[in-house]
Amino acid sequence: MWPSFSLKHPVVWLGIVALGMLPLLPLMSLRLIALAVVILALLYVTRQMRQEHCRRQLIEKALELSEDGVMICDAANRIISVNAAFTHITGFQRQEVIGLDPSVLSSGRHDKTFFERYWHALDTTGRWEGEIWNKRKRGEQYPEWLRVQACSNRHGRTENYIALFTDISKHKAREQDLERVGFEDPLTGLPNRRRLHDILTSRLQHLRAGEGLDLALIDIDGFKSVNDGLGVEGGDRLLARFGQRLSTVAAQATVGRLGGDEFMLIRTTTFDDHEKWIAGLREHLSEPFEYNDRSLRLGFSIGSCRAPEDGSDSGLLFQRLESALYSAKHHGRSHDQRFQPSLEIKGDRQLTLVNDLRRALIQGNQLELHYQTQHRLSDDSLVGMEALLRWRHPEHGMISPVDFIPLAERHGLMNAVGSWVIEQAVAQQAKWLTRNDTCVPIWINISVLQLIQGDLESRIAASLAQHGVPARLIGLELTESVLLDERAGDISPRLNALRDSGHLIAVDDFGTGYSSLAYLKHLPVDKLKLDRMFIRGLPEDSGDAAIVKAVLSMARGLKLEVIAEGVETVAQRDHLTADGCQLCQGFLLSRPESASGIETRYPSHHDP
Ligand code: C2E
Ligand code: CA
Ligand code: CA
Repeated sequence: MWPSFSLKHPVVWLGIVALGMLPLLPLMSLRLIALAVVILALLYVTRQMRQEHCRRQLIEKALELSEDGVMICDAANRIISVNAAFTHITGFQRQEVIGLDPSVLSSGRHDKTFFERYWHALDTTGRWEGEIWNKRKRGEQYPEWLRVQACSNRHGRTENYIALFTDISKHKAREQDLERVGFEDPLTGLPNRRRLHDILTSRLQHLRAGEGLDLALIDIDGFKSVNDGLGVEGGDRLLARFGQRLSTVAAQATVGRLGGDEFMLIRTTTFDDHEKWIAGLREHLSEPFEYNDRSLRLGFSIGSCRAPEDGSDSGLLFQRLESALYSAKHHGRSHDQRFQPSLEIKGDRQLTLVNDLRRALIQGNQLELHYQTQHRLSDDSLVGMEALLRWRHPEHGMISPVDFIPLAERHGLMNAVGSWVIEQAVAQQAKWLTRNDTCVPIWINISVLQLIQGDLESRIAASLAQHGVPARLIGLELTESVLLDERAGDISPRLNALRDSGHLIAVDDFGTGYSSLAYLKHLPVDKLKLDRMFIRGLPEDSGDAAIVKAVLSMARGLKLEVIAEGVETVAQRDHLTADGCQLCQGFLLSRPESASGIETRYPSHHDP
């Protein structure tokens, strides 16, 4: 570092000139004068240096005495100096942080946008001031008031950043009046359930003519698996950010957290734009969240209602919001549902059904696997079978998997259901294997929850080992949406491992998701199942015909087999054959049927 006093002082210059001339001067007297000037200059410099040293010591002492934390960073934003208060507040000793990036203090509460704004302000105005949450060495998070100044050199290039900060946690705690204790959710600082009830009651009482309330209940889809993936602390952090984002986007609305991953919004309004309001919320919340350099997009469901139209009692409105949310969830991910009176009856029925399914899994005799055969188009030969789950309910008769699989997923039963299917299919295959050595693969449908929460790989491996069935005789069907689900993590290595052990993998319902060609190219899959949505319109619908043609030629390029689903007519089959499709499955060739039905139709499966 350069001294802050000037070396350009005339005395210094004179000294340098005198020093240079000293040997050249002819007269002794002149030399003595020059020498005196040199000594004078030296004295001046030493004095200045001593003063500079004292000044620095004073500054350092002042910094040490300061109750504000001070941190100085270099141009690359590495810490080069901190004071005692820094250590006192953060718990980090000087030697522990020198050379590190200040992000060691980061609490993770602020997202990328926050820091983008921070740096933008520093770059454009040279300073930033505001409240920020940091983390002490022991892990405790605390709010601080931070002032940062960028220091530039003569050329305008930033050389240092000086940060001064005050711990305001005590101040904040004082600020929270005692009344609020017990009314605030500690994780997000938002009103809790009790407080939201009070707010809603008071708003309802004070509604003026022409005013109404928009209410929304937001629940993050599959948060349990997010939590499992990030760890509880990470999950909490994400929830805090979600709450923060909600508060910013829901201007003029009160935002609170009911607990878990459920947030609530209350808005007093004179507009009749409920649906638009919900759509706006969804748009903002769908933006990804930054987490440890990863970008996480959260899916969420919204149940909503309006007061006074849907009720004017806060308890009732809470109940109705819950049943709207419940119904939204039932429709799958990322759904919105406004309350309707019919939902209350439906909700009850669904809960009963879930309990029935739980019982069915224990008893085991209400569930069945049916099999639908798959054929080669050129000669109708049998190439495989898809296992399709059936539930024979003692009162309601046959219930479609389209109705109960989502229910099982929502109520934590999918792993049990999935494991049951695996075990049944493998046991059946073992049975057929002992009777006929030319068995075709049985394809099983896999739910994303089996990949996220379950132990799919070990479940299958255990069943195969127990029944002595080779993995190549059990194929796995995963829908495009499963392959794209971020919660399942990087799916490629898992698919690779499954294929290495011998399983075949098919992309189910292909064409309904958004998997790009580029993405598919890198996925280790064997087969595409062209969704029946595109087969239905064949051969007349030119749009469907074009899609089918495109998928077939793309698959040829990628050396993937294609099987057309839902083929019902001869015309569809002929069209597909003409386009070069090799395999098909559908009512035209066979409907799903019980194992014994299959054995009757294919006696080779039956007779030794
Ligand atoms: P999917 O995997 O697309 O299964 C094919 C569905 O199309 C089956 O309905 C099948 O009966 C039906 N289908 C087959 N050929 C035709 C046809 O020519 N015309 C028409 N209109 N339909 C045809 P299903 O058995 O009702 O199954 C519906 C969905 O339920 C399946 O769709 C699959 O997503 C899910 N599912 C069924 N079993 C399981 C299972 O064990 N595990 C999981 N996770 N999901 C399952
Ligand atoms: Ca399937
Ligand atoms: Ca399908």
